[in-house]
Amino acid sequence: MHFNELNLSQEILQAVEELGFTEMTEIQEKSIPVLLQGRDVVGRSNTGTGKTAAFGLPAVESITNADKRTVAVLILCPTRELALQAYEEIRKFAKYKRSVKACAVYGGASMEKQIFELKRGANIVIGTPGRVMDHMRRRTLKLDGLRCAILDEADEMLNMGFREDIETILAAAPADRQTVLFSATMPPEILAITEKFQHDPVHIKIKAPQRTVSLIEQHYFEVAMGRKTDALRLLLTAYSPSSAMVFCNTRAMVDQLTEELQKNGFRAAGLHGDMKQAQRTQVMNSFKNKATDILVATDVAARGIDVSGIDAVFNYDLPQDNEYYIHRIGRTGRAGRTGAAYTLISGRRQFYELQQISRYIKADITQLPLPDKEGIIAMKTEASVREVSEAEAIHSAYEVIDRLASMGIDYREAAARLLTKTLSADLDSIPEFDRPKPLRSRNGAKTVKVDINIGRSRRIAPNFILGALVDATGMSGKDFGKIDIFDDHTTVEIPAAETDYILESTNPMKINGQQVTVKLWDGKTSKSHYSRPRPDDKPRFDRKKAAYGSRRQGDKFKDYIPNRKKRAKNKH
Ligand code: ADP
Ligand code: MG
Repeated sequence: MHFNELNLSQEILQAVEELGFTEMTEIQEKSIPVLLQGRDVVGRSNTGTGKTAAFGLPAVESITNADKRTVAVLILCPTRELALQAYEEIRKFAKYKRSVKACAVYGGASMEKQIFELKRGANIVIGTPGRVMDHMRRRTLKLDGLRCAILDEADEMLNMGFREDIETILAAAPADRQTVLFSATMPPEILAITEKFQHDPVHIKIKAPQRTVSLIEQHYFEVAMGRKTDALRLLLTAYSPSSAMVFCNTRAMVDQLTEELQKNGFRAAGLHGDMKQAQRTQVMNSFKNKATDILVATDVAARGIDVSGIDAVFNYDLPQDNEYYIHRIGRTGRAGRTGAAYTLISGRRQFYELQQISRYIKADITQLPLPDKEGIIAMKTEASVREVSEAEAIHSAYEVIDRLASMGIDYREAAARLLTKTLSADLDSIPEFDRPKPLRSRNGAKTVKVDINIGRSRRIAPNFILGALVDATGMSGKDFGKIDIFDDHTTVEIPAAETDYILESTNPMKINGQQVTVKLWDGKTSKSHYSRPRPDDKPRFDRKKAAYGSRRQGDKFKDYIPNRKKRAKNKH
């Protein structure tokens, strides 16, 4: 359905046309007519489906010349970036509508300037809940004339702990206002808000999978522990994306990785919640106008950010939530373009976590080998040739070549050498990288023992120990070897290659409700009380098979894949 089939004013249709929108997206088609009627709406659809226009166009349409002194529409967004982005889009919709005065209010920016804007007669206010509350307290923002409240990315606002603020804000507005809520997911807390603050809302759910995800190639790379930064440098060198996003789970990791990339000559910048607003705006602008090639960000800082032409998304850390994976990779492949998403995994647990994500999104995430030097040369050569094939050659170049050819110089040879020369600077910067050993071939691998400070005196059985180890590491029961339980401690055989990972992921760990410490075994023990044989121990006699099998307690853990625990979300 075309926008001009809607009951929208000429000014808005003109602006929409200039934005290049012709057909409405599904969420727009379903919600705009209902919103124009003044109904409450609960809209659920994925990122990148055009929700801003879905609520923004009716909001802009609703403003009249009479709205000179009243805030008629309030749009709440979870982050400063999203508020700014929605603000900019609303301004574009209102380009030909003089009566609309939009104003963005968000933390970390000058209060005075916002107060000035509000006083000038803002009638559409877009803001983050915290700053909106600030202005309400100072009475620089009054909601007594509010006709419409819009909660954009409601799930994320709740995740960020804005529930009370949202309730206070909604309670301060006239009860007969329109309330609109958009969200990518619908956790129960949202339904609670809906019940409390909406009147007979129309529920709109776009079930279709996100249009763009199918256009995104999804791959993963196995990387040895502690080598993710090198692997990322290698991949950035190999693929040389002109615009890429790299996701990390913590602010510290964003800072560290950004610094590392910059040190190695990449045009990278970091984005996270600890940064000053001015700095964040600068980073975003520089990424949008391609002065920065690589944006390293946390999930929340990057949420909903709409930058076109991102070639690739890298998951440096696995997302802490399956939905985040979708949000992350949705940064690329926007507006029908193709894109690629690459995930770096280290260790078995991450392998299992990625498998769960793959099941969740019902799409294949296939493994690629890290490119080696030869592979990189091939990729770079191809990229260079493609690049020059679009450029024009100067006339005299042909003359030189013809002359050289007539002297018997080999074109092919000359072209190859020229390419090598052009590429040599790039090739020098390829990180030294040993190929990591594949995660899933550990036959005959060396083993070591770890020592756990819990034993027979606490009524511990081998399957308690094994269960806890499997849970903590995400590894499978058969990865662990012999378990010896002593009076006050237990030793477990583990693959030597996974020592660091296992020590890291098992401290802290609880067994039978008790906090334990796991260390490398120093070889001091008392007499063994109970042994679990190695899973690869062969029974010596066939007739002993039954008895032997019954003691292989580890067997039931063979295909055990721990449920990914929903970890507490970091607030960025
Ligand atoms: P969401 O809020 O659902 O994540 P946005 O509102 O940020 O999505 O829109 C994503 C992108 O799609 C923006 O660049 C927007 O300008 C563009 N867009 C929105 N509606 C249309 C449309 N009908 N036709 C073409 N592009 C659109
Ligand atoms: Mg949005």
